Parts: sequence; structure tokens; C-alpha cells
Amino acid sequence: MSDLTVAERDRVLAKSALFNPPEATLPDGRRELVGLTREELVAELATLGEKPFRAKQLWHWIYHQGVTDFARMTSIAGPLRERLAERFVVGRPTAAEVQTSADETRKFLFRYRDGQEVETVYIPDRHADRGAVCISTQVGCTLSCRFCHTGTQKLVRNLGAAEIVGQFMAARDSYGEWPSPKDDQPRLLSTIVVMGMGEPLYNYENTAKALRIIMDGEGIGLSRRRITLSTSGVVPMMDRCGEELGVNLAVSLHAVTDELRNEIVPLNRKYPIAELLDACRRYPGASNARRITFEYVMLRGVNDSEAEARELVRLLAGLPAKINLIPFNPWPGSPYLTSTHEQTAKFAAILNDAGYSSPIRRPRGRDISAACGQLKTESERGRKAVA
Ligand code: SAH
Ligand code: SF4
Repeated sequence: MSDLTVAERDRVLAKSALFNPPEATLPDGRRELVGLTREELVAELATLGEKPFRAKQLWHWIYHQGVTDFARMTSIAGPLRERLAERFVVGRPTAAEVQTSADETRKFLFRYRDGQEVETVYIPDRHADRGAVCISTQVGCTLSCRFCHTGTQKLVRNLGAAEIVGQFMAARDSYGEWPSPKDDQPRLLSTIVVMGMGEPLYNYENTAKALRIIMDGEGIGLSRRRITLSTSGVVPMMDRCGEELGVNLAVSLHAVTDELRNEIVPLNRKYPIAELLDACRRYPGASNARRITFEYVMLRGVNDSEAEARELVRLLAGLPAKINLIPFNPWPGSPYLTSTHEQTAKFAAILNDAGYSSPIRRPRGRDISAACGQLKTESERGRKAVA
């Protein structure tokens, strides 16, 4: 990596830290245990004079069994359970709203202790015995992609590691999927896509901490192959993500020229297409068996011509890639229309002919509230109407 990239990465990290949430401590002084690393958990227990094996036991109760009440942690002696309950909590975000769509998609609006809210969505697989949890990493987003509803909400703050892990754990509560299934057992919440609100690589430290907890084999135990992180293209952070986390990468490309991408994904002005694709070429772990997903939202008459499909093929030459064509989800006031089925099919055919897998993502959960970021706005509007 060049010195310039390292300097840019440090600048991104320093800026991101300004948006971190307050300490995960309750008004009564109790400390949140969810979101601590194993080392941090050992250190917390040491303040009670407890040895490291207690942290191992607690980890098991919290992340394997999914237990939130110390009284139920029966391998720990009663008096210690009481002391733990005085000092600590094992919390969850509050589900301010839960909506289940006719197609079984379930959307949660989670509220944190300071009242901030984000969305988490469970998307069942066609076979319905497994599915993906789409988690958020920030309240709002600093990047204003023109087609994205979250982009119209200014960034309020980053989510902390506890708040990111908490979305997955609360979704699991909702499906009763505790204790954590073994890796070879079927599970409903079988994959994670970091594709909710916010830009995960602008909240790298907290996202990385949360994903490490989720990947820990003695707890939730989802392997890195079951996790996909989506970025709009924060180039200086992509190497670290690959080296340190090794999760699957998805890149929100959406346009094949800098001119158009500058307009619809303004981050492109900082990190243009050529630089972004270079970062993809060197993404550790990318191979034909583990392709990079390129997301391409289909905007009618904007980016969906056959010439653009051919240019996309040319741009991605040599990259282990698959392309996810996403029908645009309109939201009130959005400046675009979804491409027609016919045009999307023509676009997909060109990609398929060039050997790319290019599934057209089925619109999910349309009847509960279409675009990401919308449930939150509806909830705020509802509250204002009541007030
Ligand atoms: N900030 C990250 C991850 C969150 S957005 C990123 O941009 O990749 C997740 C995906 O949803 C992105 O590919 C984004 O472009 C897409 N998306 C956002 N708004 C959309 C909409 N209204 N319709 C369809 N896809 C949308
Ligand atoms: Fe932010 Fe992603 Fe939406 Fe762009 S698409 S505004 S990066 S959440």
C-alpha cells in the first residue's frame, strides 16, 4: 500500500472517530457487556476479582446461549450472578417496530438508549429454512447517493460495536434461534449482509469489532464466508477490511463512467472508478470461488442502456466478479424510476453472455415499506403526527 493510501486511511479513521457513540454505560452506572472483546470482558471481570475462565463462561452464555438474564446463567454461582447483575447488563436494542411482509421479510426498527433508531431486515431465502440479516452501521450516512433514502438523512452518529452485534442478536431473539446452531446445522439466520443504513467503511473500527465477535467460533460462530460487507467505495479502507476480516466484499458500483458515478455516488469524486477497481483487484481472498459482488441499481434511462452493460463487462475484465442487478426501490420524492423488466433483462443478458452471473434481485418486503431508511422516516413522521 502506498504512503499516500496509508495517510488517507488514517485521515478516514480519525474523522470517523468523531462520530462515535457515548460509552456503553447505563445512567445507573452499569456497564453493557455485549460488544466487548474477549480481552475487554476478562478485564471487566478482573475488576470484580474474577479469573479469566469466568469471561469464557459469560461469553458462552451471552453469545452461544443468547441469555440476557444473569439469574439464568446457572454454571455461575448464585452470589456472583447477583454481583454481576449489580455491575453489568446484557442488553438488546428495543424493537420500536417490527413488520413482517407477505413474503416473510421482517423489518425491525431498533431503538438505542439515546433514542436513535436504525433498521435491520431479515430476508428469508427462497427455501425459507435460512436467510440473511441485513444490518446497519450508522444512524444516517455522510454520503448522499442520489437514489438512496438513507442518503437524505444526515449522519447522526456511528453505531458502536454493541449496537451492531445487538441488531443480529435481537433478530435472533425474534426467531427464537438460540442456542447458536453448530456451523453444519441449518439455521434461519444463516448469513449477514452489512448493507443497511450507513457506510460500514466509514465506521470501520466498530464494524470490525462487531464482526469479530459475530465470527468467534465459541459464540455466534458465523464464518467470514457467510458475511458480506457492502461499500460505496471507501478505497483506503478496503485493504484493511480484506486483510483483517476476510469477509466477502460487495461494491456499490451503479455506473460505468466517472461522469455519471460522480453524480449518483458522489464519493466517486474522491475515489474514482479506476482506483476503486484497483482496490478490488488487490482485495485479499477474492478468487473465482469467492467473487466480489458488484451492485448495480437499475435506474430507468439513467444507467441501464445496453452500451453501459457492455462497458461494465469491459471494466470488470479479469476480476472475479458477480453482478447483482437491483431494481430501484422508489421512495417519496425520489428522482428516479426503476428500469423496465424488459430493459433489465436485456442488460442482464449481455452480462450473462460475457460469463457473469448476474441475478436480478427480487424486490422484497415492498408491502411493508420499500427502500432502506424509509421505515425510520415513517416512524418519525408518525410520531410527529401524534405529537
Ligand atoms: N453504504 C453501503 C451499504 C449500504 S447501502 C453501500 O452504499 O454499499 C446497500 C445497497 O443498497 C447499496 O448497493 C445501495 O446502493 C443500495 N440502495 C440504496 N438505496 C436503494 C434504493 N432506493 N433502491 C435500490 N437499492 C438501493
Ligand atoms: Fe450511504 Fe450507501 Fe446510501 Fe450511499 S447508498 S447514501 S453510501 S447508505
